[in-house]
Amino acid sequence: GPLRSSGAADRAIATTAPNNNSTDQTTPPASVSTATNAVPPTASSNIDTSTLACGNGSQSATVTPELTEGPYFTANSPERASLLEDGTVGTKLVITGYVYTTDCQPVANALLDFWQADANGVYDNSGYNFRGHQFTDANGYYQVTTVVPGIYTGRTEHIHVKVQAPNGKLITSQLFFPGVAENDTDRIFDQGLLLAIQESSDGQQAQFNFVVPAP
Ligand code: FE
Repeated sequence: GPLRSSGAADRAIATTAPNNNSTDQTTPPASVSTATNAVPPTASSNIDTSTLACGNGSQSATVTPELTEGPYFTANSPERASLLEDGTVGTKLVITGYVYTTDCQPVANALLDFWQADANGVYDNSGYNFRGHQFTDANGYYQVTTVVPGIYTGRTEHIHVKVQAPNGKLITSQLFFPGVAENDTDRIFDQGLLLAIQESSDGQQAQFNFVVPAP
C-alpha cells in the first residue's frame, strides 16, 4: 500500500495545532518539506506514459541520448534518493522511472548519479548539495526527490545524470522540462530527454525511463 511519512508529518500537524504558539517549529514558507512521502510506482497518474521509453508494452527502445557532462560534475556523490535538506527552497520535484535495456528488460542495481543547480540556478562546487547517486531496485525502479532547478545563463532548465547498468557502458546525459521557453534556444536541448510532468499536491511529479545498451 501507499507509504506513509512518519515523523515529518507529525511535526507538520503540530505546527498547525491551535494551541501551539511555539515559533521554533515553524517552517520557513519557502522551504521544501523534507518529508519522504514516496510516490508509489503505480500511483494513479495523468502523465502520458506513452511517451516513456518502453512504455505501453513496447518491446524495444533506443538508448537514452547522451549529452555533455558539463563543467560541474563532482565524483563520489553521497548515496541518497532525496537531495532535499533542511531549509531547501524551491518547487519540490519527484522523478520516478525505470532503467531498461534496449529490449525493454528492467535493469536491477543500475547506477544513477544526479546533479543539478539549486532553485536559484547555482551549483554547489565545494560540497554535495543537489548531488546524489542511487541504484535501481530489483524491478529496475528508481525515485529521486529534489527541486526544480533554476535556470542559469546560457542554458535551459536541466538535471544532469549518469546511468550505468552493472558492468555496462556509462551513459552521461541531461533531463529537460516541457514548456520551458529556453528549451528553444538551448544548443543541446533534446526532445528525447524531456521529463513527463504533472503537478502534485506539493510540487511536481515526473517520470523518465532510461535505456542503456544491452550488456
Ligand atoms: Fe548544468
